[in-house]
Amino acid sequence: MVVCAGAKEQKHQYYLAHQEEIKARVRQYQDEHKDEIRTRRHDYYEENKLEILEQCRQRYIQNKPDRSEYAKRYYQEHKAETLERMNQYYLTHTEEGKTRRKQRYQLLKEEIKAQERARHIANREHIIEHQRLYNKAHVQEKRDYMREYVVAHPDVGRDYRRRRRAWCKGSTGQFTSEEFRLKCEKYGKRCVYCGKEVTLTADHATPLSRGGSNIIENILPACISCNSMKHMMTYDEFISYLKGENRLLESDYTALCLAQ
Ligand SMILES: [Zn+2]
Repeated sequence: MVVCAGAKEQKHQYYLAHQEEIKARVRQYQDEHKDEIRTRRHDYYEENKLEILEQCRQRYIQNKPDRSEYAKRYYQEHKAETLERMNQYYLTHTEEGKTRRKQRYQLLKEEIKAQERARHIANREHIIEHQRLYNKAHVQEKRDYMREYVVAHPDVGRDYRRRRRAWCKGSTGQFTSEEFRLKCEKYGKRCVYCGKEVTLTADHATPLSRGGSNIIENILPACISCNSMKHMMTYDEFISYLKGENRLLESDYTALCLAQ
């Protein structure tokens, strides 16, 4: 034991005395045997993969508090330059970053959503207050943005207005532009009342003002003229009215619609 310790000490002393020389020799060896070393390392890694990864994982867990503490301290001490560096990186790697974030999100979707929810709940008051102040400071910007958005996405604007109208009348449910499109196709893209192939609007079979809901089952495609004529009548009432006025088309199409 003593001999061992003595030999170790001797070795260390030798190393200290010949440090530069030894380092140069090692470097030379490494340069001359590059491929061999790489292969050996690779083989060793492949053979001990699980063990190595487990060691890395343990080290990662052990050092995590220190690391995040250090990162926090570093950020506080070098805030301006860190932000500048991040900004520069972001500007030069915009597309790369987008792709990476998208991939990460797809991979960890559920976890990220849960985290976001938890963060939102924990900071609810703060977030609401922040949003309020932001909205207050950016009223005109927001309005402009919304206006442009609605022009670029007419379906979204239409859905929004429809939902708002329904909400104002206290009705429940909502249908989408896609559902309405399918409904129009189902009725051969024609008005259910006059059978004309013109611009179709969403008619509430039972009007919202009479307790009808805004779900797709209560929606029929109708031309502007029939829709405004129907006004507050229900589907059955309007059909009777049209019959009374002798304006209902006795075509196959009308029969089909009535059978629905
Ligand atoms: Zn019509």
